[in-house]
Amino acid sequence: MAANRVNAAEAVVQGDEESAVQDSELISNALAQLEEDASKLQFQRTTFASYVPSNAPTAAAVSAAAGTAPDATVCRADAYGGAMGIEVSTVVALRGNRVLLVRQPGGEGWALPGGKREPGESAARAAARELAEETAITVPPARLAALPVRIAAGAFVLRPFGLEGAPRPRPRSGSAGELPRRWVPVADLGRLRLLPGVGRSVHAALVQRGIAAGPEDPAVRTLVRWWLDHRRELPWRPSRDPYAVLVAEVMSHQTQVQRAAVYWTRWMERWPTVDRLAAASLADVLGAWQGLGYPRRARDLHRAAAAIVAVGWPEQERLEELPGVGPYTAAAVRCFAHELPVLPRDANVNRVLARRFPGGLRTEGDAWRLGQAVMEFGQRLCGARPDCAACPLRPGCLVALEPGWDPAPRPTRQAPYAGSLRQRRGRLLRAALGGRPVSVGDDEAAAASLLRDGLLSEVGGVLVPPPG
Ligand code: SF4
Repeated sequence: MAANRVNAAEAVVQGDEESAVQDSELISNALAQLEEDASKLQFQRTTFASYVPSNAPTAAAVSAAAGTAPDATVCRADAYGGAMGIEVSTVVALRGNRVLLVRQPGGEGWALPGGKREPGESAARAAARELAEETAITVPPARLAALPVRIAAGAFVLRPFGLEGAPRPRPRSGSAGELPRRWVPVADLGRLRLLPGVGRSVHAALVQRGIAAGPEDPAVRTLVRWWLDHRRELPWRPSRDPYAVLVAEVMSHQTQVQRAAVYWTRWMERWPTVDRLAAASLADVLGAWQGLGYPRRARDLHRAAAAIVAVGWPEQERLEELPGVGPYTAAAVRCFAHELPVLPRDANVNRVLARRFPGGLRTEGDAWRLGQAVMEFGQRLCGARPDCAACPLRPGCLVALEPGWDPAPRPTRQAPYAGSLRQRRGRLLRAALGGRPVSVGDDEAAAASLLRDGLLSEVGGVLVPPPG
């Protein structure tokens, strides 16, 4: 970002515009002095206070840009291109996995090249101009790809642009605007003192670039090594039986893994094959599911087993035709049973990708192991509240660069269970499956919903286990 300076062309004092123009040179000079000599702060405040109405909404923003106290100067924000903040174009210049940073004057930290838009200048043109001024890299504005984020950083609104395969800068010109610069591996960004917005901007550029990390990437190797050292023993892991994997995935979907493991073991002892499950009664299947919640999952497993016994397993790409099998479960069966190069993406995996591998993960090589590793990493370390202090992937994690920012999808809040329809359905289902007759009139809404789902039947106004 260019030096924080409000120049004569930009500074338009509200109120008397004519006198503002006349005085703009004075303001500009005063700000320049202010930047050079902090001891003049009091003088500047006094000077500007006489020009500036105190009620302008962007006083704090503009004064921060000018490097002054909020009461020192107020300028019209639209001179800078934005009503809520000062618009700044920045450039994420990438060469391979390195990003170009410039050191801000005064040793504040490292930032992306960029700076304020001049009035009438397009954001892309401002980005190209600032890049040239600060780094001596010259590219036409059309080469800069607007990234789909706007980042509020203090008084500024950053508009980042991506520049893939940035050309080498010309030798240092020594011109006034040129800043110390360096190409930093993305994985090393966390070791530098960065100004706000760098992490998010780099993240957006990597997402846009879409270059996925593969098995050769050191971070992927670290992830797999972490998993090999910390993995939990889960009873279904040694199995490549699609039926066993399907049951494990359906059970774990909305249930804690450790709890699912207990149920899975019991289930597989009772119905070790898909044929045995298909031959069981739905009432028995629902009974065995009691305590896992969301009993439609059991009903769908039972229906899927019947379909598989009737016509065989569908082709890999048609697994989603099985009852209750969505894109995630289908991908999990492909990866964990058939070891196909597919990464099943549940909430845990999506979180890790969004935070640490924004370009995605390639699955060539051992897809099974990578899938297990990233899923368990998301469950145990990179959860909704990540344990970043213990994380071996912290270097290069763009979340760690921007405290308070998280690109991971927000978890959907579960409605409270107590008093919910879910709880009432559970009560009726338990009673009916346990042989305790329960009248539909006890809870008509819950009864109707269970009947609709085919989880119970009705005989003379009484709820009973389903047939079949
Ligand atoms: S540093 Fe934190 S957010 Fe980043 S990958 Fe590790 S646990 Fe997840």
